[in-house]
Amino acid sequence: MSFYAAPIARLIEEFEKLPGIGHKTAQRLAFYVLNSPKEKAEKLANAIVDAKAKIKYCRVCGNLTDLDLCAVCNSQKRDASLICVVEDPRDVVAMERIKEFKGLYHVLHGVISPMDGVGPEDIRIKELLERIQDGSVKEVIVATNPNIEGEATAMYISKLLKPLGIKITRIAHGIPVGGDLEYADEVTLSKALEGRREI
Ligand SMILES: [Zn+2]
Repeated sequence: MSFYAAPIARLIEEFEKLPGIGHKTAQRLAFYVLNSPKEKAEKLANAIVDAKAKIKYCRVCGNLTDLDLCAVCNSQKRDASLICVVEDPRDVVAMERIKEFKGLYHVLHGVISPMDGVGPEDIRIKELLERIQDGSVKEVIVATNPNIEGEATAMYISKLLKPLGIKITRIAHGIPVGGDLEYADEVTLSKALEGRREI
């Protein structure tokens, strides 16, 4: 039984469903919201509803955007012959932060993981294959995370694309094994990109 009035209990319950939020933190957040001015609470609620309603996948690369094309795909300054394949839109942000990569991205939205029942058809590999059909792409850099699933996915993509005469490279292991691209510092990520090797 909850000691809280139903709306408070519900708010705590919803915060608790968020990743990395335990019961204590959920309580703290709920009380923070309750003690905030009405406008502040509404701003938070509206930001959630607005982001959820407006954000979709870029038609070309699968990055998150509120437009048809994301800012990277829409830029005339990017090198369309180079595609960097990443697992997650957050990895695009990590790569953009180093300001060195001038190509385009392809977001898989996952990795091949038989243990979790995720096969090649469950992530955006078909879309990648479609993108390179016109022959303008010269190199595909696979920047999936350096763990078993990330490596397996890199191998799968390499085998799939190599017969098409495309250079497939893998970012170097400056990223610690089992580490996350998203959390790599800029120097490490920049070195990993620089030291990529053909697979
Ligand atoms: Zn895009």
